[in-house]
Amino acid sequence: MSGHGLPCVHCGLCLDTCPTYRLLGTEADSPRGRIYIMEAIESGELELDAQAATHLSRCLGCLACESACPSGVSYGRRIDEFRPQLAARAGTEGILKNAAQSLYTNPSLVDLGLRGAALLDRFGLGALRRQAPGLGLLPSASTSGATTDNDGADWKVTPLRRSRVHQPLRARLRVALLSGCVGDQMMPQINRDSVEVLQRNGIEVVEMPGQGCCGALALHSGRRDEAVALARANLAAFARIDDVDAFVTSAAGCGALVRDYDHLLAGTDVGEEAEAFSALCRDVCELLVEVGFKTPSRPLTSAGPVAYHDACHLLHARGIAAAPRKVCEVATGSAPVDLGENNLCCGSAGSYNLDHPVLAEQLGRRKAVLARQSPPTTVAVGNVGCMLQIARALELEGVSAVVRHPVQLLAAAYRQSAGRG
Ligand code: SF4
Ligand code: SF4
Repeated sequence: MSGHGLPCVHCGLCLDTCPTYRLLGTEADSPRGRIYIMEAIESGELELDAQAATHLSRCLGCLACESACPSGVSYGRRIDEFRPQLAARAGTEGILKNAAQSLYTNPSLVDLGLRGAALLDRFGLGALRRQAPGLGLLPSASTSGATTDNDGADWKVTPLRRSRVHQPLRARLRVALLSGCVGDQMMPQINRDSVEVLQRNGIEVVEMPGQGCCGALALHSGRRDEAVALARANLAAFARIDDVDAFVTSAAGCGALVRDYDHLLAGTDVGEEAEAFSALCRDVCELLVEVGFKTPSRPLTSAGPVAYHDACHLLHARGIAAAPRKVCEVATGSAPVDLGENNLCCGSAGSYNLDHPVLAEQLGRRKAVLARQSPPTTVAVGNVGCMLQIARALELEGVSAVVRHPVQLLAAAYRQSAGRG
C-alpha cells in the first residue's frame, strides 16, 4: 500500500469516469479491473500474460479515477510503478513503440515532420495527413494558430546571472520557465506568450540553462530509470538557480510530473532538492491567479464564444480547474462554457496516440462532436498535448473552431489593448 494511498475497496465509483471503460464497457478496462489484475499478479495468482498486459497498457494515466475515488487510492503511482513490467514483456512491439516515440521526441525529426506537414497542408493534402496518428497530430496554422500569433521579439527571458544574491524581500517576482521539449518545438508560441504575459504583469522571467524533458513520456512508457535520469538532470539545472520564486510551465503534463519529482526521487541522495523543486513548480495560469494579473483594457471579443476543456493533468493530477477559466474570462470578457464531458480525457495522454491510435481517436472525436453541438469559436485547454489532439479531432470532424491555451488568449488581449493585436 505504501505510496499508493489507501487500499482499493472495489466500490466501483470510479468506473464511469474512466475513458477506456466508457468506450469498451469491460471491467478489465476499468480502474477497479486494473487494480484487481495488478493485485492478482503481485500475489502470484495471475501471470502478466498478453491479455493482462493489454488491459493494463490501455490505461491513459489520466487520473480521472483518482478524482472520483472516495478512498484515496493513488492509482496513478501504482500503475506507473507497474509500467516497467509491462515494458519488459512488450518485446519487439515495445522496442518498435519506443523507437516510434524516440522519432517523435527527436528535435530534428520533429522539425522535418513539421515542414512536411506544412507542405502537405499547402498542397491541400491536410485532410489526408490528419488521418495518420503521428503525422496527423502535428499542428496546422488554421486550427492551432501555430504560426500566426506573437513572434516573441519583445519578450525575451533574462539570461541567468549566477552571481545574483538571494533577495527574499524583493517586490518583483522572479520565475524560471520550464520550457519542456517536444511541445515547445511543436507550439513554441505558447511559451512565448507565457513569457509575454508574465512580463506584462511585472514578473521577471529568467532562463534555466541545462533543463530538458521532464521525463513524463519515459515514465508512462515504463522507462522509469530514464525518467529518473531526466528528473535528476532538471534538478541539476535547478541547483544552478538559487533565486527564483517559482518554476513555471504551460504544459500540464510536465507540471504534474515535476510536482511529483519529490515522490519519484524520494529516498535518493537528491530527495530534499526534489521536494524543494516540486514545491516551487506552478502552472502558468495557477501562478497568474495566485499573484494577481492585469485585466486588459479591451477584452478579446474576436475569440468568440470560448469552450474550456480541462486537461487531465491540471484537473485530476493538480486539482486546478478555476485558474485557467479565470484567465479565459479576464482575456475575453466573459466566462467560458465547459466543452462538455470535461472530466473525460481527450485521448492525448503522452504517446497514447502512437500506442493506441484507435482508442485515442475515438476519445478525440468525442470532443469535436461536443464542440459542434454548442459551437464555440475557440476551444481553450491548458496543455499542448491536448491542444494538438483536439485540433486534429476538430479537423477530422470538420469543425471549424480554433484551439488556444488560455495564456494565448490573455497575451492576444494584452496585445490588442496595447494596439498591437
Ligand atoms: S488513469 Fe484514466 S484510463 Fe487509467 S484507469 Fe484511471 S480513469 Fe481509467
Ligand atoms: S479505485 Fe477507489 S473508486 Fe475505484 S473501485 Fe477502488 S476504492 Fe472504489
